Amino acid sequence: METKIAESFQELGLSSIMMKALGKLGYEAPSPIQAQVIPWALQGYDVIGQARTGTGKTASFAIPILEQLDPLRENSKPQAIVLVPTRELAAQVHGEFVKLAEGCPTSVLEVAGGKHMEKQTKRLQQGVQVVVGTPGRVIDHIQRGTLSLSRIWCVVLDEADRMLDIGFRPDIERILRRCPEHRQTLLLSATLADEVKELANRYLFEPVHVDCSKKDMSVDTIEQRYLTVAPERKFETLIALLRREVPPQTIIFCRTKLGTAKLHNQLEKRLYQYPELKHLQIGTIHGNMNQSQRDSVFRQLRDGSLQVLVATDVVGRGIDVSTISHIINYDLPDDCDDYVHRVGRTGRMGRDGIAFTFVAKGQGGTLTEIEHRINRLLILDPLSEQPTNAPRSAASVVAIREQVEIGQAPESFGVASEGEAKRPRLNRMRRSLGEREKRR
Ligand code: AMP
Repeated sequence: METKIAESFQELGLSSIMMKALGKLGYEAPSPIQAQVIPWALQGYDVIGQARTGTGKTASFAIPILEQLDPLRENSKPQAIVLVPTRELAAQVHGEFVKLAEGCPTSVLEVAGGKHMEKQTKRLQQGVQVVVGTPGRVIDHIQRGTLSLSRIWCVVLDEADRMLDIGFRPDIERILRRCPEHRQTLLLSATLADEVKELANRYLFEPVHVDCSKKDMSVDTIEQRYLTVAPERKFETLIALLRREVPPQTIIFCRTKLGTAKLHNQLEKRLYQYPELKHLQIGTIHGNMNQSQRDSVFRQLRDGSLQVLVATDVVGRGIDVSTISHIINYDLPDDCDDYVHRVGRTGRMGRDGIAFTFVAKGQGGTLTEIEHRINRLLILDPLSEQPTNAPRSAASVVAIREQVEIGQAPESFGVASEGEAKRPRLNRMRRSLGEREKRR
């Protein structure tokens, strides 16, 4: 296949109905991950796409799937299944499918925990073309005999690294083993940790590797600062930061559910005291809330009626609200990947964003790890206490600078796997453009 990367959706050879849907959505040109995944996916290849949320990765698999579906009247069993780590992401991916399917009746079902099992079962009985679900709930349906995978021709593992982190590996493998051998598998992941590579080696067939992780990593368009602050001064510093920034829309990340609830209460009591902040509506979201409570918070965030969200990492991944202007890491995340995912909630699709990270004495090492991970130095914010005691060693700073200058390439991923029996596949392409035009 030619290596030129498409600069327009026309070049990708999409059906006229899809072009109309894209036009309505205001998607003018494919994002890098879309430009690179869609051509391979349309030709039936297995693909490993390395990209984080916010890069348009959902459409990179939704478009080729929608382009190739059989009409429901010809096949009422699910044809494609998208596995995602969280309910929130299931809702978002489902929403993106529905938007992209505009103009062509398509049955897409969200199969996530926390939603009514009976309703899902009824929809499955009526016939569904695409299932988007969390592995646990998908397994539930398989065990009850309400979901058949016998006609699946495409499986998507979205945010594969996150699914493995959560411990979904056994469930994912059970699902993959139930899908027909002759199928297409698309794996999307922000990182390619060993576990992800192992999964890919086992279940993907000669995959094409598309790496958009480097340029898409939140850091390029997002200004990132840190504030040194003593633990007992954190809240007052947060107030000062909010007063200075008056953020149009911000997420404040805490590490624990308890800490999140406490900070939410404190903010509710304080913000109204300041004329510049009293208009801000504050909400919270954490793992203890039920699905309808979470959905309602997401809705308010999306429609702009909520300006401050205090959250745990539950929402760190997957949340897709393009208007978030500020991220505040009130507590440092547990690991560097979580940092990237938190910060990636702002600066969506190339918009400007700014992120602030609170660092206490003794946490300098974690800050340095984050800087290594993102290959960039965070800027010290003037609201910091004792700015001269920046908690980093000169050596680490030099090391990062060197890496940035050298432009270190990420670890390359060998697509050829060893020792695994591979599924032979003769006819890769399901539908030519002409066929797709006729069928949709
Ligand atoms: P995702 O990475 O799939 O979560 O997408 C992030 C956001 O970008 C979503 O709001 C999408 O609707 C939007 N989006 C996806 N593709 C494009 C595109 N080509 N042009 C403009 N916006 C897009």
